[in-house]
Amino acid sequence: MNIIPFSPSNFVVQSATTSLAPTWRAVRIVRADHLGMCFGVRDAIALALEESRRQPLTILGELVHNESVLRDLRASGIGIEAHAAAVQTPAVMITAHGASEKALERARSYGLRVLQATCPLVHFAHRAVQQLVREGFHPVIIGQRGHVEVRGLTEDLAQFDVVLTEEDVRHMAERPRFGVAAQTTQPVDKVRRLVESIRRRFARSEVRYADTVCQPTKQRQAAALDLARQSDVVVVVGGTHSNNTRELAATCRRHCARVHYVQGADDLRAGWFAGASTVGITAGTSTPDDIIDSVEDWLQSNLAP
Ligand code: SF4
Repeated sequence: MNIIPFSPSNFVVQSATTSLAPTWRAVRIVRADHLGMCFGVRDAIALALEESRRQPLTILGELVHNESVLRDLRASGIGIEAHAAAVQTPAVMITAHGASEKALERARSYGLRVLQATCPLVHFAHRAVQQLVREGFHPVIIGQRGHVEVRGLTEDLAQFDVVLTEEDVRHMAERPRFGVAAQTTQPVDKVRRLVESIRRRFARSEVRYADTVCQPTKQRQAAALDLARQSDVVVVVGGTHSNNTRELAATCRRHCARVHYVQGADDLRAGWFAGASTVGITAGTSTPDDIIDSVEDWLQSNLAP
């Protein structure tokens, strides 16, 4: 746990009228032990910037789910398009979320040179799913239907299920063998609960689970839980489309009543922190350091008397 070191602005007057000397109550501003941008996203951004210096480049979809990063990429001259058909540059980059072989072929069929910024841990998830299918398991992905990573994991499969809730599990048809993997940014405790639900519901089936939740997600989730338990208010920083930031906020809300999901310091409101002794900060894997720093600076400046 990173406790921000003492500074006069960390202190607020608790009661200046009831004693001869003012009573000071420190507001602890605490950063989660693990927060913010993961290596997969950093590497993808670095690759996009490097390649764009060599050749005109378009990224297929959001390289990361963070509006300020996307703005910076556009400002560097990099195009962003949702579909290969709309790409005007000779080269196109697949995002850290990865893509199916079908999607790669589709892009190549437009004559595009395809570069991949796919995170190695997403590649690992692809290999795990392929292995389950090779061994005769019906693939089940625990994740958000329609999310770009889940589309990449499933588009090449003949048959599959995508589940995110107990209700989804109740709608699955029975199979002799289920091979379960997860979107890399799902909370691992939720994934394990759903695996157990599948095992309970299909007690006669063989259920094999491949743990494909990535290590940075596990670390950020565990650190967010620890942070929320000791904070009066938690600020979760990240883009509105970021699945892992939303999941961090959901985890914090289970352990802290006052959780605020912001994209940056401009969204913060002083009234949220009334009476708080400990304010925690966490951030999703696509949130840049400078945005987290600006949130912390705001708290340092505005929680002063
Ligand atoms: S969240 Fe995990 S899988 Fe996704 S880019 Fe980061 S490290 Fe890779």
